Amino acid sequence: MTDDRRAETAANLETVRERIAAACASAGRPADEVTLVVVTKFFPASDVRILADLGVRTVGENRYQEASAKAAECADLGLSWHFIGGIQSNKAASIAGFADVVESVDRVKLVGALDRGAEAAGRTVDCLVQVSLDPAGDGRGAAGRSGAGPDEIGAVAEAVAAAGSLRLRGLMAVAPLGEPARPAFERLAGIARDFRADHPAATWVSAGMSGDLEDAVACGATHVRIGSAVLGTRPLIK
Ligand SMILES: *Cc1c(COP(=O)(O)O)cnc(C)c1O
Repeated sequence: MTDDRRAETAANLETVRERIAAACASAGRPADEVTLVVVTKFFPASDVRILADLGVRTVGENRYQEASAKAAECADLGLSWHFIGGIQSNKAASIAGFADVVESVDRVKLVGALDRGAEAAGRTVDCLVQVSLDPAGDGRGAAGRSGAGPDEIGAVAEAVAAAGSLRLRGLMAVAPLGEPARPAFERLAGIARDFRADHPAATWVSAGMSGDLEDAVACGATHVRIGSAVLGTRPLIK
């Protein structure tokens, strides 16, 4: 761990924490209502160690292979690992073996495998249903952004709620490309309100990234997923 990398990360982290606090203050919300999930995809395990040393408790990853390897390498840190990426059916059980929270549950078909994976690992895994904020309500939005349509989330939620080793915690969404984040997050707030009427304990709303966390907090997000504002620009390779 180089001292330069640590100092740079510490400064970025401080700026992001201040942004979250300011957004909470202007929304009249207590700052401890919003959990910072630092998205570590594309960055090495050494950065996860720096983050843990700087007090970060929750990290997010979006690709199965990278996530499982990094979580294993950093198992001693006691972090909470959030899986935030698209889930292939044949990877769902394995993801439930290491992720503490699976934020991207977007179809009923994944639920059985997630539940089996969690049970086999002897764990209970928190789940969020990913909802598409595409204005068209299209479940498979442009640019490969996934998420269940607002009319599909009820079925996914019920499957999660009925699963013995999963716990339904709320909703996750990504602002769609090609429109400002604010109206999309306002739609999300309405969807989340309806969702809580059916599932009162499912109070988490994960929304907001480096560029739009203020809008997300204003619209009721309980979790923000921040990558580049903390760790810098990701390499462009995929
Ligand atoms: C990469 C990613 C983020 C973080 O994005 P930044 O713009 O780097 O903050 C948040 N959510 C999801 C689903 C992601 O894939």
